[in-house]
Amino acid sequence: MACPFFMPDQRFESDWPFPQRLPLGAGWAGNCTAPGHEGVRPSDDELKSGCNLGYAKRCNWLPAERHADAVRFVLGEEHDGVVRVLFACEREHLPAGHGELVYEIASASWVQQHEDPRVQRMAECYVEAQRSRRPGLLEKS
Ligand code: SF4
Repeated sequence: MACPFFMPDQRFESDWPFPQRLPLGAGWAGNCTAPGHEGVRPSDDELKSGCNLGYAKRCNWLPAERHADAVRFVLGEEHDGVVRVLFACEREHLPAGHGELVYEIASASWVQQHEDPRVQRMAECYVEAQRSRRPGLLEKS
């Protein structure tokens, strides 16, 4: 599961054993948005141990007051030209919110976005990673 304070912006290649199994579908670099660390680019080690992977509780930058420890995504099925991306947050290994985001293939746009721009961006990265491995996915037929 990815850190809820992570704002990914570009792919991050590393020695991941199975990058396709990463929470965001691939490795990503980006900015931290945790209070006091906004805009800081985490090191490669931090990207690998906290931002992209696992429970970020190991990261010292994670604020004590937080709505979630981690977030995950799952690609739903495509119906009538829209695809739903399901997300779930956890806090102390318990559910801390879930929902779905909706992507419309014809307009190549999100018609239902997450209010948190970090979660929305992570969803976009997740979908981008899926598309890079499955040509034709989410494309107009
Ligand atoms: S794991 Fe740490 S460095 Fe990475 S986004 Fe979260 S709080 Fe920031």
